[in-house]
Amino acid sequence: MVRVRFAPSPTGHLHVGALRTALFNWLFARHHKGKFILRIEDTDVARSSEEMSRSILEALRWVGLDWDEGPIYQSHRFEIYRRAARELVERGKAYYCFCSPGEIEERRTRAQASGEHWKYDRRCLNLDENERQRLLERRVPAAIRFLVPEGRTEFTDLVHGSISVEHKNIEDFVLLRSDGFPTYHLSVVVDDIDTGITHVIRGDDHISNTPKQILLYQAFGKPVPQFAHLPLILGPDRKKLSKRHGDTSVLSFRDRGYLPLAFFNFMAQLSWSPGREERIYTVEEMVREFSLEKVSKGSPIFDLKKLEWLNSRLINEMPVTELIFHLRPWLEKDGLWSEELLSGRKEWFEKVVDLTRTRSRTLLDLSAALAPFLSDNFSYDPEAIKKYLLDDQLDRLLPVLKEDFLSLEHFTAPEIEKVLRERAEKEGMKAALLIHALRVLVLGRSVSPGIFEVLELIGREKTLRRIEKLVEVRNIIKEKEDQG
Ligand code: GLU
Repeated sequence: MVRVRFAPSPTGHLHVGALRTALFNWLFARHHKGKFILRIEDTDVARSSEEMSRSILEALRWVGLDWDEGPIYQSHRFEIYRRAARELVERGKAYYCFCSPGEIEERRTRAQASGEHWKYDRRCLNLDENERQRLLERRVPAAIRFLVPEGRTEFTDLVHGSISVEHKNIEDFVLLRSDGFPTYHLSVVVDDIDTGITHVIRGDDHISNTPKQILLYQAFGKPVPQFAHLPLILGPDRKKLSKRHGDTSVLSFRDRGYLPLAFFNFMAQLSWSPGREERIYTVEEMVREFSLEKVSKGSPIFDLKKLEWLNSRLINEMPVTELIFHLRPWLEKDGLWSEELLSGRKEWFEKVVDLTRTRSRTLLDLSAALAPFLSDNFSYDPEAIKKYLLDDQLDRLLPVLKEDFLSLEHFTAPEIEKVLRERAEKEGMKAALLIHALRVLVLGRSVSPGIFEVLELIGREKTLRRIEKLVEVRNIIKEKEDQG
């Protein structure tokens, strides 16, 4: 059975690079009906924090990645790693090293000064047995180093193909530091063995670690898993994705109003494509289609425009009731939510959301666009006021239009449109003047879905009240100018 793991270090929030690793492991496990195991690699006690562990779990849950086993915390397993390292010493696969960091540094500097490439010189491997015993008894701090055998290691990476490394290029690396803490190589291999991992799927940055880890599996006498290394994600400038490209933490995408399924699609489609079309795929479709063989070797570009496109597509495609479910926390945060929107005003609200969503790329946009429908307390865009509300003709025309609106039997989109166009014609002016002014007065902004549908949904009473605020709204920019 396939058993894979995601093994983040909780030294920061989960960022998109790590999430892509988690996602591919999860898709692989679900495709093969295997197990997805979560392991928190918190052996670096000084840099790890519980808060970051919690934040990582929260990010995984938001994207919809559930795990079958774990989280396993490496910090609970220090004794197990120590025992494993000692076992390798007893079996002659590793040895105690008493060289202090200072001594090693000195030898390295000396070698490098004479132009040599230095790797650990095995001084402690060659200690005489009595001397070794004496040092151990005196409790001189000792690390445990792996004894790299002669030869070379070759493996077939499921993304990159065949990779081979000469052992003479590998130093006798440390497994257990002299302070008793394990190195990454030791803890990762011990845990992957203990949890029966069959496939290690992780970022390209770990390729150079793989030969060492294969040697460790062999030293423990355990089967070596398969490896798949995923290509590094690049920013639009083709440089390694980093903070310079904006916030790359997964939860920041939630907080910017992206839907989990759009984000899931976007992340999965970095390096892999579930089908030929550019569209939103369901999670089930992605699970069905996933295969490591189809992952491309080239570095994908992290293009936020694509995420925006997918998100706005999903906002427009999903059933409106589902969209309201995702929208609710946003409206609550903005003080716009009331339970009535799910009961007494349900039908009306669904129409409003359906009309408004066409122009929204994120839930944040959508929540802002909904404010004028749900409250009288929304903001006016000063640019829109300057552009569309300063025409003197409006002082005379808007009260007349108000009377027209009052005279309508039904305040519906077609009737509103008819009476407005007739009024414009009578006055010998463009209907656009009135339309733009109404949009700014009623919604506070210069763009919106069809204004006549908007007015119908806002309702006659509110529309008339907002038209009456012409002078007040104009004053907003005067006040701004006075202040600024
Ligand atoms: N903890 C390592 C990291 O966050 C992952 C180790 C692994 O996947 O082997 O990069």
